[in-house]
Amino acid sequence: MTLAFTPRIVVPQVTGQPPVPLVTGGEIAYANLDHAASTPCLEAVRRAVDEFLPWYASVHRGAGFASRVSTKVYDRTRDVLRRFTSARDDDLVIFTRNTTDALNLLARALPRDTSVVLFDTEHHAALLPWRGPNVIRVPAPRTRAAAVSVVDSALAACPEGPRLVVVTGASNVTGELLPVAEIAAVARRHGARVALDAAQLAPHRPISLRELDVDFVALSGHKLYAPFGAGALVGRADWLSEARPYLAGGGATKAVRVSDEAAGGLEVEWNPGPERHEAGSPNTVGVHALGVACARLAANWDAVIAHEDALLDRLGRGLRTVPGLAELRLFDGEAARVGTVAFVVDGFDPGLLAAVLSAEYGIGVRDGAFCAHVAARRLISVAGGEGIRALRVSLGLGTTEEHVDRLVTALRRIVTEGA
Ligand code: PLP
Repeated sequence: MTLAFTPRIVVPQVTGQPPVPLVTGGEIAYANLDHAASTPCLEAVRRAVDEFLPWYASVHRGAGFASRVSTKVYDRTRDVLRRFTSARDDDLVIFTRNTTDALNLLARALPRDTSVVLFDTEHHAALLPWRGPNVIRVPAPRTRAAAVSVVDSALAACPEGPRLVVVTGASNVTGELLPVAEIAAVARRHGARVALDAAQLAPHRPISLRELDVDFVALSGHKLYAPFGAGALVGRADWLSEARPYLAGGGATKAVRVSDEAAGGLEVEWNPGPERHEAGSPNTVGVHALGVACARLAANWDAVIAHEDALLDRLGRGLRTVPGLAELRLFDGEAARVGTVAFVVDGFDPGLLAAVLSAEYGIGVRDGAFCAHVAARRLISVAGGEGIRALRVSLGLGTTEEHVDRLVTALRRIVTEGA
C-alpha cells in the first residue's frame, strides 16, 4: 500500500490590519506594499508576545519566577539566532536595537587601523558608521562580476593590518542580491573579514555564515515580522570580546572596584561574552519576538520563497504594462532578487504618486531616496530619470495577488488618466 502524502506548504500568517479610509469616502483593506521598511507582525509572534507579557522582567538579575522565565527566553533566543544564521560554534550573538545599531557596534569594535572596503551604494546604516583614513568607499559597478573584482582591487591596495569588507545581502532600493559568497572568497584571499548587512536579505532567504563564509551578520527584527526594538549582530568573538564595550553600564561588567579612593578611580572588569556590549536592561519582549519570528521563517523557507517569487513575477509583468515606468537596477541585465522594486514614472513626481496610491487606493508604498542617497541618485540617472526620489514597492508575507493587481491597475489609471 502506498500512502499519499502531500507536504503542507505553510506560508506564515501575518496579523491582519483594519481597513483604511479613502479620500473619496468609504474604506478599503490596506495593501501594505512597504515590507522593506518594516514588516507586519506574524500571528505566531503576536501570540508569543501576548503569552510572554505577564512574565517579562530584567534578565540575569533575579531569582523570582518572572526573571528566571525572562532569562531563559533571552538566552535561548541566542541559540535561535545562532541557528537562523548558521553561526559557527564560537560566534557571539549580541542583541541590538536593529541593524543600524549592530553595524555601529561593529564599527566601534574594529581593531585599530582596520581598513574598511564597501560600495558607495550601501544603505546609510552600512555606509556611514566607519571612520578613519582607511575607509574605502568604492563606486558600485554595473555587473556582479565587476563588483567582485573591484573589491579585489580595493583590498589589494589596502595597507597592512586588519581588513573588513562590508556588503549588503540584498539592496534595499532594487532588491537585487549581491554576490556575497564570491566577495567573501576574494576577501579571504586578502586576509579580510566580511560583514553582511542582512536587513533586507534575512526576511527573504536563509542566511548561513558558514556557507557564505562571512564573519559578521547584522539584522533587524522589525523587517523580520516582529515588532520594533530588537535586532542582532552575530559573528566572530575575538574582535568583539577585545573591544571596548559599546555601552558602559550594568550587565556589561563582571566586577567594579575602587582603585584609587582619593582620586575617585575605578577598576572595571568587563564581561567577555555578548553581555559586554549589551549594558542596561535588555528588551526581553523584543528579543523574544525576534526569536519566534526567526524560528517561524526558518521552518517555512520554501513556502516563503515560493509565495514571494510568484508575487514578484506578477508584479514585474504588471509594471511592464505601465507607460513611462523605468525600473532602477544596480546591475545591468537580470539579477536574482527579493521582492523589492523601485522605479520612476516619466512626468510623475514619486511623492505625488505615493500620496495618490495611499489616499485613493489604500496602498502603502515608499517614496524618496530610501536612506541610500548615493544609490538613489545614481540609479535614477541610469534609469533615465532625474533627482534623488523614486517610488519603491516591496512585497512580503503580508502581500496578496489582489494587492499587486490593485497597485498595477492604480498606476496605469493614474498615468493614463491622471487620476
Ligand atoms: N540596511 C539595509 C539594507 C536596510 O534596508 C536598512 C533599513 O531599511 C538598514 C540597514 C537599517 O535598518 P534599521 O533601520 O532597522 O536599523
